[in-house]
Amino acid sequence: MEIEKRKKILLDYIIANDIKVISPIVENGRIIYPILKSSGLTDNDTEVLEKLKDEGLLYSETILKAVGCPLCKSLNILVVYKCPYCNSMNIKIKQIFKHDQCGFTGMDDLFESKKCPLCLRDLDKNELRSIGQTYKCMDCHQTFISPSIFFQCINCGNIFTVSNSETIPLYQYKIVEEKIEELKLKIKPIILIKELALKNGFQIKENEILKGNSGILHKFSLVLFKNNQVKIAIDVIDKLTLEYLMSSYVKKMDLPNVEIVIITNQEIKDPNFYNIIKTYNINLFYFKDLDILLKNIEKLINEVN
Ligand SMILES: [Zn+2]
Ligand SMILES: [Zn+2]
Ligand SMILES: [Zn+2]
Repeated sequence: MEIEKRKKILLDYIIANDIKVISPIVENGRIIYPILKSSGLTDNDTEVLEKLKDEGLLYSETILKAVGCPLCKSLNILVVYKCPYCNSMNIKIKQIFKHDQCGFTGMDDLFESKKCPLCLRDLDKNELRSIGQTYKCMDCHQTFISPSIFFQCINCGNIFTVSNSETIPLYQYKIVEEKIEELKLKIKPIILIKELALKNGFQIKENEILKGNSGILHKFSLVLFKNNQVKIAIDVIDKLTLEYLMSSYVKKMDLPNVEIVIITNQEIKDPNFYNIIKTYNINLFYFKDLDILLKNIEKLINEVN
């Protein structure tokens, strides 16, 4: 599917569901965005997220950097601790205790007998103080503060160290409220009109081109069909000019059996506009009052039904 189409699907979903944040999760070592899947796109389609970011509708934040496989970029990574002396994985964490009464300090196994190895007093657990921990290799018996850390990629089997690991950022996307609000004004009515049309048994097509009686092609934002017959054709525009109105008149003449609807935000003060709209039998509705807009569309739907 082309990027513009995917962009529209996601935007519609964001607006219809009032999404504010698009967060990633890691599944089988891949970064995915469940919201993308819910919207009907593929769950790792970051191209569409980046596109909306480039257009200023989303911004991204790095929520964490995860260790990734330098070969296959998978995040499905096992952390492996090894003995720095002999590379054995057979290592254990040991607690270090201090015998308060004599000051003897040693690993937990030195205190396993009933007597302190230094002062030979009977050991009371309350007199032993934990002062930290260390690692012990059960094969070469060396002790060490920190083990060697290796990573193993579950996906491709690659074994790598901290120094040649790759950190892969996980981005969370957030909406730019004012930009989305602006869009919402235009998109939400269309979403609601689509719902209304479907509920009333219409088929809908967006950005549809209709062929008029003259053979001229006319483009509309949203077209409502019933039994393969075009009933209502809707245009969504920012600025309503006289030229635009004239072109709508041409559309109306060329598609006589179709109700032509213009939805705009711009309020018309010029009475000449009203005369033209009335004379040409064009329906002019406004975005700003959603209830009135939907009532008008519903009325029209009932008329053509
Ligand atoms: Zn060892
Ligand atoms: Zn002691
Ligand atoms: Zn890998």
